[in-house]
Amino acid sequence: MIRFQKQKNIIMKNIIMKNIKIKKRKTGGIIAAAMLVLLLWLSGCSGQVTEYEAADTAMGTVVWQKVYAREDITPEILAQITNLETELLSKREADSEIGRLNASAGKEEVTVSQELTQLLQQVWEISAKSGGALDVTVSPAVDLWNIDSCAMGTAPFVLPGEAQLQEALTKIGYEKVQIGEETIELPEGMSLDLGAVGKGIACDFVARLLERDFRVEGAVISVGGSVVTYGSKPDGRPWVIGIQNPRPEEGGGSYIGSLSLEGSWFVATSGDYERYVMQDGKRYHHILNPQTGYPAESGLISVTVLSKSGLLSDALSTACFVLGKEAGFALAEDYEAYILVVDTEGNVEFSEGMERYFTP
Ligand code: AMP
Ligand code: MG
Repeated sequence: MIRFQKQKNIIMKNIIMKNIKIKKRKTGGIIAAAMLVLLLWLSGCSGQVTEYEAADTAMGTVVWQKVYAREDITPEILAQITNLETELLSKREADSEIGRLNASAGKEEVTVSQELTQLLQQVWEISAKSGGALDVTVSPAVDLWNIDSCAMGTAPFVLPGEAQLQEALTKIGYEKVQIGEETIELPEGMSLDLGAVGKGIACDFVARLLERDFRVEGAVISVGGSVVTYGSKPDGRPWVIGIQNPRPEEGGGSYIGSLSLEGSWFVATSGDYERYVMQDGKRYHHILNPQTGYPAESGLISVTVLSKSGLLSDALSTACFVLGKEAGFALAEDYEAYILVVDTEGNVEFSEGMERYFTP
């Protein structure tokens, strides 16, 4: 009690002395501003860390957040993800950068943000390294199958005809698109669908927000099949990310295992169980082989990629799903990412490095 009183006096004295100085100096405004920032920072750091949880929809999927912070920042994170979708990534939003770009196909090149060209350059590199297994120009075939709407029950499933698919294939090919520093030229009939990378890009974006926010101690946030972990839990235990069983109806429970992660990581899973339609005993799912236009049949039914980049995890999980086990493992290794796959027989295999994090 006595000590507290003493400290209070000292603080009071300091404030009085600083006030006098402020009046005398020309730089007083700067000092006052710096003090205000310091006070705000101290008040932000001193609050109690609480667990906040939220589940919402954005980017056409579920955004689930668990955040350990001094304030509930989950509404801000959700708003930023929605903003990223509507302003930049969505092909369904006419006013997003991708929406405007798609509308420009066959016309002159359009000016876009450097943010977009830099993202697309990374995607194009992965497309080249995967031999076109990942190709965001697959959009015309995605529209033809319309699996997303059919899986949600908002449109009837119609098997595309061979001629329609061949026609769509003529409008696919990432190498036909010119990407400049701030310009992109899209040939007639072509369009981009960032469904395979957008959720990972959102996770990268969220990670940058969390790093800058002094109110946050730790967080795990999933945007559909892409997950970002950041910082730590108050109890110091690792983040545990469950990997879904792609065929729970055949037994084995909801999960095939989990990843235990500390600090910042990105995990993405691509699977034929996420969005699909069954017809005549055949499964038509949402991950297409851009070479054939048909749902990929590579012998894999689920691919999980763990890496230090959201875009990379998301892009590689899709690319490796299309490539199959052998080429998929080689591609992941090329990018120093860890991979875990489930094949059509139900076998689970994972790359060296993954065993440190995976528990069946
Ligand atoms: P993901 O769930 O990340 O594997 O991404 C699948 C989504 O990306 C689909 O719903 C399509 O919108 C799009 N897509 C499907 N196949 C491909 C592909 N081979 N390359 C790029 N995008 C694709
Ligand atoms: Mg993906």
